[in-house]
Amino acid sequence: MTDTAKVCAWLDQVPVATVDPLNLPEFIRAEVEVGLVRLDQIGEGLSGNKWYKLKYNLQFALQHGYRRILSFGGAYSNHLHALAWAGNRIGLETVGIIRGEPEYGQNPTLTDARRWGMQCVFVDRQTYRLRHDPEYLKSLQALYPDCWIVPEGGSNTLALQGCAEILNQNMLRDWQPDAVVLACGTGGTLAGLSAAYPDQRFLGIPVLQNAGFLNNTIQALLDSRGQRTDAEWALDLGGAFGGYGKTTEELRAFMTEFQCLTGITLDGIYTSKMLLRLIQLVELGRFQPGSKILALHTGGLQGNRGLKPR
Ligand SMILES: *Cc1c(COP(=O)(O)O)cnc(C)c1O
Repeated sequence: MTDTAKVCAWLDQVPVATVDPLNLPEFIRAEVEVGLVRLDQIGEGLSGNKWYKLKYNLQFALQHGYRRILSFGGAYSNHLHALAWAGNRIGLETVGIIRGEPEYGQNPTLTDARRWGMQCVFVDRQTYRLRHDPEYLKSLQALYPDCWIVPEGGSNTLALQGCAEILNQNMLRDWQPDAVVLACGTGGTLAGLSAAYPDQRFLGIPVLQNAGFLNNTIQALLDSRGQRTDAEWALDLGGAFGGYGKTTEELRAFMTEFQCLTGITLDGIYTSKMLLRLIQLVELGRFQPGSKILALHTGGLQGNRGLKPR
């Protein structure tokens, strides 16, 4: 077997996440059953939902003879962290276009990324805003020849294809969930899941403020895959807790309490917001007694090293 074939075969071994029942008092009181899909426990450095989002992108780059992968993110980006790890593991160069100042290169996320060989390029906000602009992408192609460009958060059609594999038939048969609940950043993970399971109800909880625009982003991603328009997905916009990368007293307290109660660590950017909002929705009576819910722990724990101490 060639090296490429070996690496592609490795990427094809989809890790299977376990589902942990979450017996929180709020859920018991409301008679809803919640299982937490532990994507945080899979895939070494390429963990959480980023395994699925990058899998087919990495295979594509290898099979088409690209020398490197270039992508975009913030200074604590789980996506760039995972990409740097994977590039190092499979022998692809990586370039990260990062929103912010070069000092950010010293933070834990980017220190790892640089150690794994990622070339970190820092750009100001105006430049970062061009990340979907064809002319800008063309200029990056010229600066970094032979690169496969992956959008921010990894969310392209190859990522959607990978996200379809987050759930599997066994999980769905065992749980028969009335809803699958997940945190949304770019919406790629939700789009991939809904494209694969159009009859399954998905509830996305965006972790950014004023995220109504994600409805269009997700629909556009689904249109690109020829998705049925009557698919069962929706967003709840009440889970931003101060906005992207921001936190509140309530959220911090919840993370600590959840860790004490369950022994499970949540990340401060995505999964803590998703679960706290889910608890609020359960308490608001949004789920009938007897409902079964699967919540996705999409990982992201490396980002907790960037949480400011109080
Ligand atoms: C990237 C990420 C998400 C968001 O995924 P999208 O596909 O961008 O919506 C959710 N949770 C964690 C932990 C992540 O790292």
